[in-house]
Amino acid sequence: MNIAKVIVDVQAKAINQTFDYLIPEKFRDILSEGMRVIVPFGPRKITGFVVGKKEESEFEQLKEIIDVLDINPVLTEELLELGKWVAEDTLTLYITAYQAMLPQVLKAQYKKELIRNTDEELAHELEFLFAGRDVIRYEEFVQSTVPYTTLRNAIQDGAISINYLVKSKVTKKVITFIEPNKEAHLLEEAFMDLSPSAKKQRHVLSFFLEFPEPVEQQKLYNLTNTNRAVIKALVDKGILREYKKEVYRNPYDDTSFEKTLPLPLTKQQEMALHPIIEKIHNHKHDVFLVHGVTGSGKTEIYLQAIQEVIKQGKEAIVLVPEISLTPQMVKRFKGRFGSDVAVMHSALSNGEKYDEWRKIHAKEVKVVVGARSAIFAPFENLGIIIIDEEHETTYKQEDQPRYHARDVAIKRGQYHECPVVLGSATPTLESYARAKKGVYQLATLDKRTNNQALPKVEIVDMRNELHEGNRSMFSIALKREMESGIERGEQIVLLLNRRGYSTFVMCRDCGHVKRCPHCDIALTYHKNSNQLKCHYCGYEERMPHLCPECNSESIRYFGTGTQRVEEALNQLMPHARVIRMDVDTTRKKGAHEKLLKRFANKEADILLGTQMIAKGLDFANVTLVGVLTSDSMLHLPDFRSSEKTFQLLTQVSGRAGRHELSGKVIVQSYTPDHYSIQLASEYDFEKFFLYEMQIRKKFRYPPYVYLALITVSHQNHVKAVQITSRIAQLLLKVVGKDTIVLGPTPSPIARMKDRYRYQCMIKYKNEPELRSTIKKVMDLYADEMRKEDLSITVDMQPYHLM
Ligand code: ADP
Ligand code: ZN
Ligand code: ZN
Repeated sequence: MNIAKVIVDVQAKAINQTFDYLIPEKFRDILSEGMRVIVPFGPRKITGFVVGKKEESEFEQLKEIIDVLDINPVLTEELLELGKWVAEDTLTLYITAYQAMLPQVLKAQYKKELIRNTDEELAHELEFLFAGRDVIRYEEFVQSTVPYTTLRNAIQDGAISINYLVKSKVTKKVITFIEPNKEAHLLEEAFMDLSPSAKKQRHVLSFFLEFPEPVEQQKLYNLTNTNRAVIKALVDKGILREYKKEVYRNPYDDTSFEKTLPLPLTKQQEMALHPIIEKIHNHKHDVFLVHGVTGSGKTEIYLQAIQEVIKQGKEAIVLVPEISLTPQMVKRFKGRFGSDVAVMHSALSNGEKYDEWRKIHAKEVKVVVGARSAIFAPFENLGIIIIDEEHETTYKQEDQPRYHARDVAIKRGQYHECPVVLGSATPTLESYARAKKGVYQLATLDKRTNNQALPKVEIVDMRNELHEGNRSMFSIALKREMESGIERGEQIVLLLNRRGYSTFVMCRDCGHVKRCPHCDIALTYHKNSNQLKCHYCGYEERMPHLCPECNSESIRYFGTGTQRVEEALNQLMPHARVIRMDVDTTRKKGAHEKLLKRFANKEADILLGTQMIAKGLDFANVTLVGVLTSDSMLHLPDFRSSEKTFQLLTQVSGRAGRHELSGKVIVQSYTPDHYSIQLASEYDFEKFFLYEMQIRKKFRYPPYVYLALITVSHQNHVKAVQITSRIAQLLLKVVGKDTIVLGPTPSPIARMKDRYRYQCMIKYKNEPELRSTIKKVMDLYADEMRKEDLSITVDMQPYHLM
């Protein structure tokens, strides 16, 4: 077949299709689906993905493929299919979806070089090309007459590898090894022949007589106290031999992980694991929801399920939220599966990410533990996919393609006929509702493995503090507990919720918060107009001077930063040592780990931070958790705010008393009677679920309906409103009568980078044509989007309604 179907890298709606290109003779045998190529496109040369091959094209005068970027395809057949589905499901371009599946390094064109990995004879054309060198520029190959098939075969045999040169920084590391070039008895002879004055050379040889193994050159220097000149002399004499070997940069030193063995399971763990193992054995897909309180041993269940998968010669993907990719979590997987584990998260450099990806691509690992995008790991024989903390919104990509890793996981699970396991102490309402209906299989673990009770939660009513004259952000109870904790030499975690982009208005006397009468979300204060606005439906009213509930004048907007809290804390308790962890103090690479390490080493009494400290941390000495402002998340303009508050309070409470010492939690609140604060303090997920479901039903929110969000932005205010309004009208005409189209309303971030942002929200139950309708509507604006400064984005599963 001499024609390739190519998805080209042009970010435009009109180009979202395959183009036919002729495959030149030299590529014909090696070109296959999933490879990246360079093709002519108009006057330009661009990259593209080969997605198919065929004999004939309806077009005449096809242009030829200029170059092949990969000798081994970077996308498997499954991933090509999956990318297509992702693009269609999220209304994005195919090219965008494919690029999202690959590490950054492979999204661009980089200079390449070929590295020789072996001393064994290569095909003679290749020997000729390398001409005694270990590394050559890729262009030398391109300009030579060596057939592509010859190179491909050498690459597949592992004799040669391709290295992408990422900006002057080499992505692969090449290390020189030294080994004996003679058999043991000949080596001894050589040793005898050496002049007795060549002390250093004799010393090196005696080393190899004792350990006749390859050694890294650098290590050899250290071990034998020699230098390059000595080694070179021995190499030149043909006694030793040197060769270069490509090694992966290893962000985690595998040797430092202590090996762990499977633990005998508790009854509850056993019951949760058993049905999962059964699916693994029967090669059947199913989705499991493991609902287990913090410390109930969910991770051990994952580990033992993966072990079973590896036993079958299959592979596993484990997704964890970026935030919990702490050394603690990585240690648990590396400790059990050692170098079979690749780790992928955003703190790795591009080169490191590429290395981890290549280990997966080359089938050198069995398990990947990673953040969201690890769901696209190019495994071909998946046996299980695990999503820990399944309720985390970081599993939804907020940029194109706006996919949810859970959906992709289930799609891959179906393809590979393997189980997908979702785990959480506080599942999403969506997942829990599905589990209750029997769509997912539910396993419940309500006991901690150490049988410790969950820490007691005390809710402090901050309105009373104010009435009693305490204007500080620390209640009397919290201060007392912190002091006695520090006295006992124990540690404290203090959580300050991130404040939303916008501020809400609350009465400090009675805790009253103004909410939209139609949408039940907190109204947002707009300083310029002194108005309160609803960001879902556009309802607005004037900012009141007096609290409508209690007539107090203490009604105002709300929000504090961690830095201010730290200052106040230093004033209140000058002797306490505080570590502050927020976006500012963790910006530098490795800062996150360093701060946690210092806290673990007891270099501080208090760890003060935002959400990022709520999850996954496991410090034996933490006995007190304080939540300073439990309200600030409760009143985000988001219908999920109660759910998020419940989740956060449960998570952070789980940080206390995880080991021998028992723990305590103090939650400060201006709305202590709110059901999500009350029920979180009782750890009553079931009751919370039932209550919250009623509200979702009443105001028509997921999981009762699906949402879609269209956001329009333009520099011209009027234009932004007009287009949004037109889109809403067009949609209203075609949707069913049960479907609600809201808008145009200003986005919660109404103006960003001098662009006005308006949105239209669709609430629907059954609209099989919705995607194609939205696509058609967007196509109407395709011209304007290209020529003018108009942007329209669609999110078919919005989480951040901002
Ligand atoms: P979760 O992920 O549900 O919060 P973890 O997996 O972190 O819980 O388990 C909590 C603690 O219990 C860990 O220290 C873990 O090593 C320990 N653990 C897990 N399973 C068992 C078991 N079967 N027996 C004893 N200890 C266990
Ligand atoms: Zn009031
Ligand atoms: Zn509203």
